[in-house]
Amino acid sequence: MVSKILSVMSGQISTRNYGDHHIPERLQDLPTKSNPEFFEMVEYYFHKALVAAEDKLISEMRDKIPLEGKKKKFKGITMLMQPCRTILELNFPLRRDSGDYEIIRGYRAQHSTHRLPAKGGMRFSQFVNRVEVMALAALMTFKCSSVDVPFGGAKAGIVIDPKCYSVHELERVTRRFALELAKKGYLSPALDVPAPDMGTGEREMTWLADTYEKTVGHGDINAHACCTGKPINQGGIHGRTAATGRGVFNGTTLFLENEKYMNEIGLSPGWAGKTFIVQGFGNVGYHGARYFCRAGAKLVGVLGRDVGIYSKDGIDPIKLDEYKFSNGTIKGFPGTEETGGDLMFRECDIFMPAATELVITKENAAKLQCKMIVEAANGPTTPAADAILIERKILTIPDLYINAGGVTVSFFEWLKNLNHVSYGRLTFKYEKDTNFCLLDSVQKSIEKRFCKEGVGSVPITPTNEFEARIAGASERDIVHSGLAYTMERAGKALIKTAEDLNLCLDLRTAAYVNSISKIFATYSEAGLVF
Ligand code: GLU
Repeated sequence: MVSKILSVMSGQISTRNYGDHHIPERLQDLPTKSNPEFFEMVEYYFHKALVAAEDKLISEMRDKIPLEGKKKKFKGITMLMQPCRTILELNFPLRRDSGDYEIIRGYRAQHSTHRLPAKGGMRFSQFVNRVEVMALAALMTFKCSSVDVPFGGAKAGIVIDPKCYSVHELERVTRRFALELAKKGYLSPALDVPAPDMGTGEREMTWLADTYEKTVGHGDINAHACCTGKPINQGGIHGRTAATGRGVFNGTTLFLENEKYMNEIGLSPGWAGKTFIVQGFGNVGYHGARYFCRAGAKLVGVLGRDVGIYSKDGIDPIKLDEYKFSNGTIKGFPGTEETGGDLMFRECDIFMPAATELVITKENAAKLQCKMIVEAANGPTTPAADAILIERKILTIPDLYINAGGVTVSFFEWLKNLNHVSYGRLTFKYEKDTNFCLLDSVQKSIEKRFCKEGVGSVPITPTNEFEARIAGASERDIVHSGLAYTMERAGKALIKTAEDLNLCLDLRTAAYVNSISKIFATYSEAGLVF
C-alpha cells in the first residue's frame, strides 16, 4: 500500500504489483506529455485516484460475496464510470442577418447519469470541440460529487465566437439548439439541466428556458427548472452570478487558514497582504478577484484575452470591470504596466487561472513564481505540470472542488424552481416575530426574578449583529451560507482524505478519491445491470 501511494504522489504510476488497478497502457505517458488530450487527461486523473482508492472501495463494499466477486464488481463499476454515457452532435443552419447561411455545430455530452438530472454549463467559443465537451462533462460528474450536489455530469458547447454575431443571430442559434436538445432528452428539468459557461450568461439561459417552456416542456409545471443561471425574474436565484467566484474565495480561505498547509508551502496564514494574479477576467475571474481583495489581498496582475496588466501597488477589480465594460478591453487601465503572457510567471502568492483548460503545462510549470494555485477554470493543469508543481511544493487547489460554487448554487436554483417559492418567503415574518418574542420572553423572565413588582424594568436590546439578522435571512443570505457550508464541508473532507492516504500536497488525487467513492457507492448499492 505504501509503495502504491508513493508512486501515485510522484505522478509516475507503475502497473507493477501495486494492487490490481493500474493506469491503462494508453494513458501511461500522460505524466510526461507536453500536450495531452483533454479527455485523456481527466481519465488519467481518474485512474490515478482509483489506484489510491481501490483497497478502500473494495473493502467498503457491503455485498456478501467472495473477494473475487467484489473485485469483478469493482472493475465493472469503475469501467462504467470512465467514458461519456452519450454525446450528441448537432449541425443546424443559421440564416445570418445578411441573408447568408451558415451551418452551426453544437454538442451536448452526458458523462454520467448515476444521478439525474445531468448538469453542466453551455459554452460558446470558436475553440469548442467534441473532446473538450466530453472532458468538461466528465469534470462536471466529479465536481458535483465533490460538493454533494446530487446530479450527473454534462456539458454543452457551440462552435461559435459570440463576438462575431448579432444578438438576434445568437438568439436564433440558442433557441434552435435548445429545441434540438429538448427533442432528444438533453434539455429537461428531470434529465439534463444546462447553465452558463464561457461565452454564455443569463440572457442565453432565458432563451433556453423560454424555448423549452413553449415547446417540448409545454404543460410541464417545472419547465423553468430546465436550466439554471437564469435572471431573477425568470426563476433565477440571488447570488448565482457571483457563486463560482464566491466559492473559490470560500475554499481558498479554508486552506489559507490551515497552518499545516501554509507551513508546508512557506506562506503565512490568512488573507492579509497576499498578492495574486488572475488569468482571465470574465465572470469567475472578476468575482473571485473582488472577494479576494475584499478579504485583504492585493490583485497585482490580470491576464486578459489580448493583453496583461500589472501593478505592484494593486488593481481595483471593480474599477477594472467598469473600465473593461466601457473600453471593451483591460488594455490601458490607468496605473498599470502592459505585459504579455509571461505575466503568469511573475512573483505572487496566489495564481488564479480563471480562463480555459490546459494552460499550466510541462513547459511552463517550472516558471510559476506563486505558492498556491486555485483552479477557478476547468482543467487548467496537465498531469506533467501537476507533478512538477507538487515537486516544487506549490499547493494546487483542484478545479473539481474549488470552482464548484457555481453548480452548488445552480442546485439551489433548481430546488427553488421545483418548490415554486423563493427561499425564506414562508418563514420571513414568522422568524422576525419569533425573534421579538424571544427578546420579550427573556426580558419578562429577568424582570420576574430580579425586579420587585412595579419597580423598574430590564430592557433587553439586541446587539447590532442580532439587530441586522432579526428579520430573518434573505434569499441571498441563505444562498451565501448554504454555499459557505458546502465549500467548508467538502474542503474538510478533502483535507481528511489527503491525510488518510498520505497524499501531502496532491489534493487533486484526494478530490478525485472523494468524488469517485460517492459515485462508486451509488452504483454499488443500486446495482449495475438493469
Ligand atoms: N459552467 C459552470 C461549471 O463549469 C456551472 C455549471 C452548472 O451550474 O451547471 O461549473
